[in-house]
Amino acid sequence: MTSLKSINQDDLRSHNLSVIIDTLLRAPSPMSRANLAKTTGLTKATISLLAGMLLEHGVVRELEPESAQPAYGRPSTPLTIASGSWAGIGLQINTDGYGCMALDLAGQVVASRWVDDDMRQTDADDIFAKLNRVSQAVERKLRQRGYGVVGSGLALPGLVTDDMQLLMARNLGWEHLNLGSYELVQRLDLMPGNEAKMAALAQIPGYATQEQPRSGAGSRALEACELTPTDSFIYISTDIGIGGAVVHKGTVEVGDHGFAGELGHVSVDVNGPACRCGRRGCLETYAGRRALVEAAGIAQGDEAVNPKAVEELYRRWQAGDPKAVDAIDRALDALVSVMASAINLADVGTVMLGGFWANFDGSLTARLQRRLSHQILARDRIHPRVLLPRVADKPALQGAAEVGLRNFIDNPLAYF
Ligand SMILES: [Zn+2]
Repeated sequence: MTSLKSINQDDLRSHNLSVIIDTLLRAPSPMSRANLAKTTGLTKATISLLAGMLLEHGVVRELEPESAQPAYGRPSTPLTIASGSWAGIGLQINTDGYGCMALDLAGQVVASRWVDDDMRQTDADDIFAKLNRVSQAVERKLRQRGYGVVGSGLALPGLVTDDMQLLMARNLGWEHLNLGSYELVQRLDLMPGNEAKMAALAQIPGYATQEQPRSGAGSRALEACELTPTDSFIYISTDIGIGGAVVHKGTVEVGDHGFAGELGHVSVDVNGPACRCGRRGCLETYAGRRALVEAAGIAQGDEAVNPKAVEELYRRWQAGDPKAVDAIDRALDALVSVMASAINLADVGTVMLGGFWANFDGSLTARLQRRLSHQILARDRIHPRVLLPRVADKPALQGAAEVGLRNFIDNPLAYF
């Protein structure tokens, strides 16, 4: 009886610690203990005790007391998430290379390594061995700086099952890999997942790192500020392949098997070009990186997946080259059609366009948004927004690190 009671108390304490961390992560500014008590519904005594534990273990830090003296009692001391103690490791294997990033709870990138590589016809064993070495270098740096590693994620451009199988990653030419057999996966107790879903996680404010006040008046920063931690949005990840994720009230909807959100394989023309998935007219065959480069007549076949080719496409499009303009127009038609279908299906009014499309002209989102608003069935009520990603550079890598950090946030007591 005694041991059962103490286990439950530990669970409760860990849960309450988790609630406090989550509250601070999502808060737009530091919070006093009194404020935390009000927001979480925990008593002031509980908050004081738990805040003491979080301070002791380097999860939070105290800022200078607020200068304005309250009418009664002591001035309050704001608490915020601390940098320097706990880190998650994100790993990614993509069509343009592989790499590793360590991220702490305060949102600071502690270390990162990326290896650009030609990933055509690669051997999975070889790439996992190379990624293992890259990760070990990052882990050494974390140890030197006194960080505790709390978990790690691995983003892959394909279908990943709950039981660690990579069913297929067509743009790498890999299929039916038992991910659990790799030393890297075993050593780090890695959580593998689909890259688009991990990239979507990185876009959720306060998901696993402190929300940073975003400075700069660039359009990207302004648009990004419109998203809150509990918003719903559809994320589209664009590369050679196109992936996607539906985020509902701050949670990625994965479906019954973990495969939900494959927007790249929504067909817009049953008589359209053949897709690598076996269907015809998929979004990927119009708006994927390879498809666009080929349609614009810049390169064909293997040469079309060279990242330099899409830079050439961008230059030609800006210069008004008719084939480039036509290819982009057709891709935009397909994008608008799939966005509208996704909004009709999921009843989510915000779409975030990530990947290489996010580097296109800044007016693109406004153009997409205008066209989209005419294609939504519930257009009287849903006013679609098309946003650029908050995290545009390697978002899946960051999301994978956040998957690791969530282990800690969900059960902090397990690490103390
Ligand atoms: Zn397809």
